[in-house]
Formats: sequence, structure tokens, C-alpha cells
Amino acid sequence: MQRRAILSAVRTLGGHPTAADVFSALRDEYPNLSLATVYRALHALVEQGVIGETRVDNVSRYDTSPIPHHHVVCRHCGNVADLPQLILGDDLFRTAEAHSGFLLDGRSVQLTGLCPACSLSAVASRS
Ligand SMILES: [Zn+2]
Ligand SMILES: [Zn+2]
Repeated sequence: MQRRAILSAVRTLGGHPTAADVFSALRDEYPNLSLATVYRALHALVEQGVIGETRVDNVSRYDTSPIPHHHVVCRHCGNVADLPQLILGDDLFRTAEAHSGFLLDGRSVQLTGLCPACSLSAVASRS
């Protein structure tokens, strides 16, 4: 099957679901599905370049877009949002290489903070 159902679940869920999110979205429809199968299928889809993968707090999150891009991650609720590749220009990577001596080949940056909803409630609880 099941790879197609798993792919369409990633697309339907949107955002950046975990394997567990995908598994629970499909469990009713496919009672024989195991979490291990979901992991394997997601891994294969990443290998094939169909979907992307990003690690947040050591948990893989899956991305409908396989094209490398940046992420902002809410440290409060774990919400993950995309930033377009262009927003952090090549200058950033050249500066980082100059400082570190590393030859960088990754072009994907993860920034953490509070998402709009969480920063609103942080402000509200402060006043
Ligand atoms: Zn948040
Ligand atoms: Zn993304």
C-alpha cells in the first residue's frame, strides 16, 4: 500500500508531522499498520527525494517539500514553520565559514524562539 497513504497523510497533515503524527492519522483507516512501517516508508520517501526531513529536538519531522529550506521552531509548543531559502543569504554562510574554517555544505538553518501564539500568551501573562 501503504507508502502512498503515508505520503498523502504527510501532505494532508501539513506543517511538519512526526512519524507518530502520521501513524495516528492512519491508524483508524489501516488497523494493521505499525509505527515501524510508517518509519520505514517515511525514510524511503526521504531517500527518494519525495519529502524532506528535519530534526527538531532529536525527533524527525517530515516536510512536504524536499527542497532544503530554513525553519523556525517554537521552543514552547514545538510548532515548526518554514523560512524561504533566500531569507538567509549566502553572506551568512560565507561569514560562518570564515569564522569556523568549516566548509559548509548544508544550507538549512534552524532558528528557535516563540511562535506568534506563544509570544502573545507570554506577553499576556507578564502584564
Ligand atoms: Zn509556540
Ligand atoms: Zn519545512
